[in-house]
Amino acid sequence: MPASNPNSDKSFTGDDDLYRAVIMDHYARPRNKEKIEDPTIVEEGFNPSCGDEVELYLQVDNGVIIKVGHQGQGCSISQASVSMMAELIEGKSIDEVAALSECFKGRMTTREELTEPAVDIGDLEALDGVRFYPVRIKCALLCWETLNVALDKAQAKD
Ligand code: ZN
Repeated sequence: MPASNPNSDKSFTGDDDLYRAVIMDHYARPRNKEKIEDPTIVEEGFNPSCGDEVELYLQVDNGVIIKVGHQGQGCSISQASVSMMAELIEGKSIDEVAALSECFKGRMTTREELTEPAVDIGDLEALDGVRFYPVRIKCALLCWETLNVALDKAQAKD
């Protein structure tokens, strides 16, 4: 499907195939899927309702996430989400990442029609349709919840 006007209404049905392709691409070729050297923080998350596991490795310096790695396994939604997240947050400040996290969580949990995201959430927009599947929302949010715990610890260390 060709890229359409980014301001046009993104109905779930209209972008379904495109979104699925983006999700499967991240699942098949996960970004940043590696342990990193000298992580500041390592944090594990588990989603018992689906069996998803994520292990995050973060190098944080001066309030900035300078390097991100992850390991783990699980369904396509959980693994695509952590791949998209890793790609998006590397090089960003903890404050920027907190805004991203809030924005994405808001999209996953709202019952309202979605509008353009307030911040650039990159490929995460491909997960917009997940909010219609309550069981899968936990899969999409697992890595973000793990990230929030990790960043709280990173800030406590500073
Ligand atoms: Zn899952």
